[in-house]
Amino acid sequence: MDMNTKDYLAYLVNEIHTAVVATVDDEGLPVTAAIDMMDSDGNGLYFLTAKGKGFYDRLKKRGFLALTAIKGETTMTSVAVSIRGKVRELGYEAISMLFEKNPYMREIYPTEESMHALTVFHIYEGSGEWFDLSKKPIERASFTFGGAERKTEGYFITDACIGCRSCVPVCPQQCICVDSVPLVIDQAHCLHCGNCMEVCPVSAVEKR
Ligand code: SF4
Ligand code: SF4
Repeated sequence: MDMNTKDYLAYLVNEIHTAVVATVDDEGLPVTAAIDMMDSDGNGLYFLTAKGKGFYDRLKKRGFLALTAIKGETTMTSVAVSIRGKVRELGYEAISMLFEKNPYMREIYPTEESMHALTVFHIYEGSGEWFDLSKKPIERASFTFGGAERKTEGYFITDACIGCRSCVPVCPQQCICVDSVPLVIDQAHCLHCGNCMEVCPVSAVEKR
């Protein structure tokens, strides 16, 4: 199945739901919290928190977060989605929309009065990575939303390649194509382990 950004975000909300979210405190150190991702669209992700929490303060101060969410019984059956991006507060008005989509929230905040501390945040611009270890070879993909710049990351073989094939047997995913010189790394299956760069005798492998 070909997935686009909207699909990756929807998978995170509907198939995983709870993400470990990292923010940065006043000392510049990371702090993590488990946060439910409650809705998504082509413009990003939506979640809520209470204004009394330290998490709220860190979101307001930095306007940025990173998260990872994983689905799978074991490592080798798991899919991970990681995102980093900018957040903005939408406020209380958006709460009812998230409660409608996530009725279990009524068990935690049963009355209108008890909901007043809550506020909604929108991750409106960011980049993400999809990593599927259940596939053989592994599958990875990157995506962006909200106009974030797409950065190319990974390992690439340059024109300096002499076609010696020393990199081929050390590749754990057999994702180096030998049909032409320079050889070509199939980015969708690369583990980013760096073995190919280590063994290349002419430094033809670049990490970008
Ligand atoms: S980084 Fe690792 S997985 Fe990717 S092509 Fe090189 S050896 Fe293969
Ligand atoms: S080890 Fe380096 S020179 Fe040899 S095939 Fe691989 S990339 Fe090309």
